[in-house]
Amino acid sequence: MSKKLVVLGGGESGLGAAILGKAKGFDVFLSDRGKLNDHYRKELTERGISFEEEMHTDALIFVADIVVKSPGIPDTSPIVVGLNDRRIPVISEIEFAARYTDAKLIGITGSNGKTTTTLLTYHLLKNAGFNVGLAGNIGDSFAWQVAEKHYDYYVLEISSFQLDNIIDFKPAIAVLLNITPDHLDRYGYSFQNYVDSKFNIVRNQTAECHFIYFDDSEVITSELVKRSTSSQLWPVSISHTVEKGAYLEGNQLISKIKDSVFSQDFESLPIQGPHNAINALTAIAIAQLAGVEADQIREGLVTFRNAPHRLEKVAHIEGVVYVNDSKATNVDSVFYALGSFNEPIILIAGGVDKGNDYSQILDLVKEKVKGLIILGPKYEKLKHYFEGIVPQVYITQDIQDAVAQGKKWAVPGDVVLLSPACASFDLFKNYEDRGDQFKNAVEKLANS
Ligand code: ADP
Repeated sequence: MSKKLVVLGGGESGLGAAILGKAKGFDVFLSDRGKLNDHYRKELTERGISFEEEMHTDALIFVADIVVKSPGIPDTSPIVVGLNDRRIPVISEIEFAARYTDAKLIGITGSNGKTTTTLLTYHLLKNAGFNVGLAGNIGDSFAWQVAEKHYDYYVLEISSFQLDNIIDFKPAIAVLLNITPDHLDRYGYSFQNYVDSKFNIVRNQTAECHFIYFDDSEVITSELVKRSTSSQLWPVSISHTVEKGAYLEGNQLISKIKDSVFSQDFESLPIQGPHNAINALTAIAIAQLAGVEADQIREGLVTFRNAPHRLEKVAHIEGVVYVNDSKATNVDSVFYALGSFNEPIILIAGGVDKGNDYSQILDLVKEKVKGLIILGPKYEKLKHYFEGIVPQVYITQDIQDAVAQGKKWAVPGDVVLLSPACASFDLFKNYEDRGDQFKNAVEKLANS
């Protein structure tokens, strides 16, 4: 009799897991407590995969031999508690998909910079002619691609939620960009729990595997001391040189991996700011480990185009630059955004606070921010923290009004920066919607 696979959550990763499960001979059932999107429902129906939506039926779920759970479902949800009580294994989509591919896996995690580094790494490998797939939290589901494509490499953007439910997942190259407080609501408000989750990326690595990590993060380096890892270690730094690994020296990105030394002027890259030096150094080190030639790395670095909403320059209006950094949904990313400009900044911030501690950006705000525009109904915390520190504070619920206020305060040479430090679910559908509305508002301003 075929084994029973239950997939919880019918989003991109759940659908992929169901399709891969079917291809591998499982008896598959997908259950989503919400409504499925029309496209996914159609796929399931056409492929003859049974499913339910807007409910979880215990009798159909607790018979599973194995469960693949969407990263969005917390371990505290009754259905997961019920599965754990019955000792039914609950794994993530990356764990499931990795069991069915021999491709070399490059797993990239961190609180910030995952998407940029994943996209850049993918671009460097693809540009060099590698047969490489892009998956994880980005693009098409990993499991779906494993079911239907044959790649030699996968570059995977991996969130801590995906890492929470791994058992044997073992990337050939693992990357940890940083660990700063985020999503603590899902980790019992314990930072250590979140750190442990991120370190799952190296849990199964052995001596032939590589671990690239940000050496300037004390959280990471002190954790490494505590743990015994047999992986080959490649530190990345923007504050000091390293004997092997990658670092920034003056304006040079330098990467020393095995016998090859790579260097390139950081200013020749289309992505800028100190955080992007970290991301670029990391992607270069990965490419070198994968065997990409220096000339091809060089070419890939200058032809890269990052995804929108990440320090994206939107317009120049009357000498003022408008920048969309809507993806900055926590304090650490705002820290790097502020560090990316030498010009005076009018900062638009605010939204759904995930337990933010603003002390990390206090000095930078004092030094660079000439006006703070707080966007959203929950403005008190930001106002309380920064009133008296920045020369002027303005509160609004309307993004057009926020941009208009930015224009009023700005003089030629200033930057108006949307870098919210918060999630977007108060006034917007998601961070993309917030960024798009910002761009529209700036466009209207340009035409007014
Ligand atoms: P993620 O996928 O981890 O959310 P992104 O590449 O989408 O990361 O970047 C999100 C935001 O985080 C960006 O807007 C940028 O301001 C900031 N950021 C990018 N890379 C880093 C990094 N290495 N360290 C800290 N912050 C970063």
